[in-house]
Amino acid sequence: MSNPVQLGLLLLTLTAIGVFGYNVYLLEITPPERPYTEFLADLRQGRIKKVHLRGQTLTGEDNSGRPFGTFAPDPPALVPLLVERDVIVTGEAEPTSGAINAFKVLLPLVLILAGWLIFSKKTVAGALGGRRTARFTPVRSERVTFADVAGITEAKEELLEIVEFLKNPEKYSRLGCQIPKGVLLQGPPGTGKTLLAKAIAGEASVAFFSLGGSDFVEMFAGVGASRVRELFAEAKKHPPCLIFIDEIDAIGGRRASGQGTGASDERNQTLNALLVEMDGFDTRDTVILIAATNRPDILDPALLRPGRFDRRITLSLPDVRGRLKILEVHAQKIVTAPAIDLPTVARSIPGFSGAEIANLVNEAALMAARHNKAAVDMDDFEEAKDKIVMGLERKSIAVSEQDRRLTAYHEAGHAIVGYLLKETDPLHKITIIPRGRAMGLTQQLPLDDRLTYSRDYLLNRIAILMGGRAAEALVFNRLTTGASNDILQATDIAARLVCEWGMSADLGPVAYRRGGEFVGGEQSAPHSEMTARRIDRAIRQLIGECADQAADLLHKHNRFLHTFAEVLLLNETMDAEEVDIVYRNYLKERDVERALTENRKPDEDQQDHHTEDMQ
Ligand code: ADP
Ligand code: ZN
Repeated sequence: MSNPVQLGLLLLTLTAIGVFGYNVYLLEITPPERPYTEFLADLRQGRIKKVHLRGQTLTGEDNSGRPFGTFAPDPPALVPLLVERDVIVTGEAEPTSGAINAFKVLLPLVLILAGWLIFSKKTVAGALGGRRTARFTPVRSERVTFADVAGITEAKEELLEIVEFLKNPEKYSRLGCQIPKGVLLQGPPGTGKTLLAKAIAGEASVAFFSLGGSDFVEMFAGVGASRVRELFAEAKKHPPCLIFIDEIDAIGGRRASGQGTGASDERNQTLNALLVEMDGFDTRDTVILIAATNRPDILDPALLRPGRFDRRITLSLPDVRGRLKILEVHAQKIVTAPAIDLPTVARSIPGFSGAEIANLVNEAALMAARHNKAAVDMDDFEEAKDKIVMGLERKSIAVSEQDRRLTAYHEAGHAIVGYLLKETDPLHKITIIPRGRAMGLTQQLPLDDRLTYSRDYLLNRIAILMGGRAAEALVFNRLTTGASNDILQATDIAARLVCEWGMSADLGPVAYRRGGEFVGGEQSAPHSEMTARRIDRAIRQLIGECADQAADLLHKHNRFLHTFAEVLLLNETMDAEEVDIVYRNYLKERDVERALTENRKPDEDQQDHHTEDMQ
C-alpha cells in the first residue's frame, strides 16, 4: 500500500461504506408512529420536549426522553402552538421523499463501485461495456477569430504564421520548415491570452484542446502526468490541432531540488511528462502547443529551451487606444445609445484589462436593463465603472488626475534624460499605465547583451534614474515618494562603481566592502572608519553629479519635457518612434521661436543644438 493512489482509493471506499451504513441506520431509527391526535394531546399538556419537522413528517422527543414520530397534516398551523409550549423546534425544507432516501443510500454504492473500478484500472465506460470515452474532447463551438481580439496587433501578426501553418501544414513540411512547436503567451490576467489561443484555432479552423495548469495541482500522485500523456495522445489523433495549457506556472514552476514535498513531487512528475511529450512530437504531427502564464519569471528554464516554448509573446495591459478598440468589440454586442462616447469611456479607465473592459460593458448593459432603458448610455457606463472600481482590490486603477500628471512627468523625466544622453540603451517603451505597485515604467532595450559596462554608461544610468525625480522637482517643485525605487537602484550602481569596479577618482581601483557587506566578494579589502566615510562621500558625490546633470538637461529642454508629458497623458504609452516625432516637433518649434525672439538666423541655431544635444 505504498502507492498513494491506492491508499487514497482505499480511504474513499471506507468512507463510502461508512456513509452508506449511516444512511441505512438513519432509515432504521425512524421512531414509532404515534397518532397525530395523541401527539396534540401531549403537546397541550406540555409533555413534548422537542420536535423536528421534515415536510409533513414530524419526529421528536417527549419530556421523558422517549422518541416518537407522527404525520403532521398542517405544519404551518402547528408551529405557533409548538412555540407557545416552549418546544424546541427544528426542521428542514425538503420533504424527504422515497426517491431522495434511495439516492442517499445509492450514492455511496455508486462511489464504492467507481472506486473499485478505478482500483482495478478499468474505466467506468469500459466496465459498462461501452467504448472508452476520451477525457479531452476538442472544442469547436463558439468560433473565436482575430476580429474578437482587439488592440494587440503586434501579437496577432506574430501568430499569423502559426495560423498559416495549421491551415496548410503540407506547404511547410514539404519545404522542411521549422515551425515553432510551442508558444508562450505571457502577461497579466485578463489580457486576452486564452482568447488569443482560441482565436488561432478559430482562424485556422482546427480543434482546440485545453487544460488549466491548476487542474493538476492537489491531485493524486501520477494523475497529472497521466493526464498530460492522455491529452497529447488525444490531440495527435486530431491533427492539425492546438493544445492550450492555461496557467502553466502551476506545473511548470521551477522544479524543486532535493527532497520535495508531496505536492512538488507531483508537479515535477507532471512537468517531466510535459517535457517528454513536447520532445516526443514534431511539427509533422501538426500539433501546436500554446501556454499562458502571468508569472513567466518562475517558469522552469527547461520549458523555455529551444524546441519547447521557444517563442514568447508578451501581452500587456492596453493603453487608451487599445482600450478603445476592446470597448468597440464588446460594445457591438449590446445596444448603445447614439450619444455614447467610447473614447471618453476608454480614457476614464486607465489600468483596466481586456477582461475588465468586457465586464464593464456587460455591467453597463445590466445597469441599463435595471433602469428599463431602451439603450445603454454614458450614465450606465459611469455607474458600472464605479461599481467595478470599488470592487477591485487594485486601488491603482482609480488613479487620481493629480497622480497621473505626476507620473507622466516622472516617466518623461527618465525618458528624456535617456533619450538625450548618448551612451545608453535606446528607449523602448514609456508607459503611465499603473501595474502592480509601479505607477509607470520607462523601458530601455539593451542593444546587445553587454557583459561589461563603461563608466559613462553607468553614470548615464544613474542620471536616467535621477531624471524622474528631477522632473517632478522641476515642474511641481516638490518631491514625492514615487522615486524611492529609482534611488535604490541608483545607489546600488554608484556603490558598485566605487567599491567593486574601482571607478571613483578618490578611492581608485581597490575593492571595498560597504556597510559591513562584501560588495566585491571575499577579496574586499577591510578598511577603516575613515575609508568608510570616504566611500560614502564618493557615492553621494557620484549620485549628486548625475542628479545635477539630469536636472540641467530637463531644465534646458523643459519644453520637450512638457510636450512629452502631455503626449503621455493623452496616449498613456509612447514607443521609440513616437518619441522621435515629439522630439523633432520640439526642435522645430524651438528653432522658430528662437528665430523670432532672438532675431538670430535659424541655420546658425541649427548647428548650435546639434552639438549641445549630442554631447
Ligand atoms: P487571460 O487568459 O489573459 O487571463 P482571457 O483571454 O481569459 O484573459 O480574457 C477574458 C475575457 O476578456 C475574454 O474572453 C474577452 O471577453 C475579454 N478580453 C480580454 N482581452 C481582450 C482583447 N484584447 N480584446 C477583446 N476582448 C478581450
Ligand atoms: Zn522612476
